[in-house]
Amino acid sequence: MPEKSVFLYPEMSPETKKITIAIDGYSSCGKSTLAKALARELGYIFIDSGAMYRAITLYSFRKNLVGTDFMDQEKIIASLDDIELHFEFNPLSSKLEIILNGENVEKEIRTLQISQLVSQVSSIKEVRKKLVSEQRKIGRKGGVVMDGRDIGSVVFPHAELKLFITADPMVRAERRFLELDDPSLSMQDVLQNLQQRDHIDSTRKESPLVKTEDAIVIDNSFLTPDEQLQKALELVADRIPAEK
Ligand code: C5P
Repeated sequence: MPEKSVFLYPEMSPETKKITIAIDGYSSCGKSTLAKALARELGYIFIDSGAMYRAITLYSFRKNLVGTDFMDQEKIIASLDDIELHFEFNPLSSKLEIILNGENVEKEIRTLQISQLVSQVSSIKEVRKKLVSEQRKIGRKGGVVMDGRDIGSVVFPHAELKLFITADPMVRAERRFLELDDPSLSMQDVLQNLQQRDHIDSTRKESPLVKTEDAIVIDNSFLTPDEQLQKALELVADRIPAEK
């Protein structure tokens, strides 16, 4: 059992300025785990931007606009105005879950099928424009931890703390494989999907995954979630402005 964090902020009061934390990195390298834990420790909100891209992909898949070997980009763009996304807090999972046109799709967006289509849909400029604008609205007051691929580079280029998370591909595939817990899948399927997404995400024309110059790299291949959290909290403490 990892030790509960004992990191304290004696200088923090409710008036303490809330910063913006951007977490980017490769697929399945623990970004969301870290973002969620950081938000809990700091009393911030955690936004999983990947869930938004996944939800648009799910919508497009259900409407037969994207599949294994086709994508109707024009129709996906034309249907963007019909897609309403927001997050709602679920006390059972203690996280904000994604709602697509009134339906909680938190589970449906995580299947390997959607993972295999999401990078293609995410490379559409108009899809990114819609989601970046919504993400900026959510984060305009600070006090947000958001994870994704373009958070430090495009969504919040002025974020006070930018982290770039990475881990060995085999370690990532194994973690994801255990998380998916689906007997019909092999480790090889999961590894292949991660590598394919990393490739598309890093080489696409529209806001590709990049490490910005001011981002701090954390390789968590050999870190427990709690060790990773402690490292990030130390970086946060350096960036919270002292009160006058
Ligand atoms: O974070 P997650 O792995 O759930 O993201 C799913 C996919 O959504 C990524 O592989 C990427 O194609 C896309 N994405 C993106 N920009 C973000 C977040 C996710 O392009 N900010």
